[in-house]
Amino acid sequence: SKITIAIDGYSSCGKSTLAKALAQKMNYTFIDSGAMYRCVALFGIRNGCVLGAHKLNLSCVVSSLPQINIQFGEADEKGNRAVLLNQEDVSDEIRQLEVANIVSEVAAIEEVRSFLVKQQQELGSKGGVVMDGRDIGTVVFPNAQLKLFVTAKPEIRAQRRFLELQAKGETNSMEEILQNLKHRDRIDSTRAISPLTQAKDAQVLDNSEMSELEQLEFVLNLVKN
Ligand code: C5P
Repeated sequence: SKITIAIDGYSSCGKSTLAKALAQKMNYTFIDSGAMYRCVALFGIRNGCVLGAHKLNLSCVVSSLPQINIQFGEADEKGNRAVLLNQEDVSDEIRQLEVANIVSEVAAIEEVRSFLVKQQQELGSKGGVVMDGRDIGTVVFPNAQLKLFVTAKPEIRAQRRFLELQAKGETNSMEEILQNLKHRDRIDSTRAISPLTQAKDAQVLDNSEMSELEQLEFVLNLVKN
């Protein structure tokens, strides 16, 4: 029978890449919960809720929630799913550093989290789901049959994100990217509500020196046992 797989960890550890590959291999549904927080952040930017670097008008974000509809498209041959914000494909836009620079502040808002966690739980209610994020094994699916906590060395994470953004034509510097990762990790792990922590029953996967295929095989082995 189909299980639920929760993948958590710090920013840019390759959680989504692993989750996507797993879902493809197991014929499961892949859900990138971070994309949902990024959609709320993007909506907030467009709506004028951002006041400056890492500064938000909280009530502006909270009052915009009822206007936000987030959907995922069908997986393509690579397992990628388009991210739709009010029917608009924002898959690339939500990856930009402008969004990354405010998303952790958005994700620290209690109303934002309850709004999205409810939708995530509904999306995963039938099982057969691989969801990645920060609180999936602790809050969204505390009963998930398999929980992973992914880690990797900071320089390796920045390098991976740098290459990813470069491939999309973005020109951000390595320094800028590293600063953003550190900032998000700090906010994500110290916020009052659902801070990023390792679930007690999670398996730790340090993928600093592992290829994508090695990671996939490692997890498929866990699924079998
Ligand atoms: O996974 P990704 O890096 O795209 O997530 C973007 C941000 O969304 C994270 O830095 C975090 O602030 C927030 N997030 C969260 N809880 C999740 C997923 C993402 O707070 N389950």
